[in-house]
Amino acid sequence: MDAVDALKQVAEEVSVCRQCTLAGTRKLAVPGEGPVTAQVMLIGEGPGFHENEQGRPFVGAAGKFLDELLAKGGFKRSEVFITNVVKCRPPGNRDPLPEELEPCAGFLDRQIAIINPLVIVTLGRFSMAKYFENVRISEVHGNPKWIGSRFIIPMFHPAAALHQPKYRPMLEEDFSHLPKWVAEAQQKNAPSQARTEDENPTQLSLF
Ligand code: URA
Repeated sequence: MDAVDALKQVAEEVSVCRQCTLAGTRKLAVPGEGPVTAQVMLIGEGPGFHENEQGRPFVGAAGKFLDELLAKGGFKRSEVFITNVVKCRPPGNRDPLPEELEPCAGFLDRQIAIINPLVIVTLGRFSMAKYFENVRISEVHGNPKWIGSRFIIPMFHPAAALHQPKYRPMLEEDFSHLPKWVAEAQQKNAPSQARTEDENPTQLSLF
């Protein structure tokens, strides 16, 4: 199965998933969207009212702000992959529960494995918790961490800035650094000139 089909397969399984009780209250599951070739993946918390209606991630007020933040870094929504740690709406937008996060984690892990993004941006504390243990988002936001050759960058959730304006400049600043972090990850993942020279030292000594 190629990567496009594998990603579609995950989305189909999500759309009929009944592994937790959110299946009983959702209208539409929200698998996530974006190109299979995306270098940047954004992981939010879970669908809200509008996402549950449309089956698409970040289409409400927080999504509109996310589009603006992406634009600050020179990115279009259409070139990144956007998804959530839980794929169905928690009623009343409450926090997702461990018994909802746990069965959904396999879908996210498969999406990450298929897309293999250079950079993952976690939005809010629930997706941050996948990679950062015992930290406060206020202390680590905007500080990337290498996991293998992938950069994981914790950021505040865009909805936080809609409720509390003090988060807006922090999110704007963090997103403005995104191109630099993508470039660093590209460089780390590129076959390096130095390696080619190491592999062929005689050629170098000719000069
Ligand atoms: N908030 C999220 O975390 N995800 C969405 O898809 C929408 C709002």
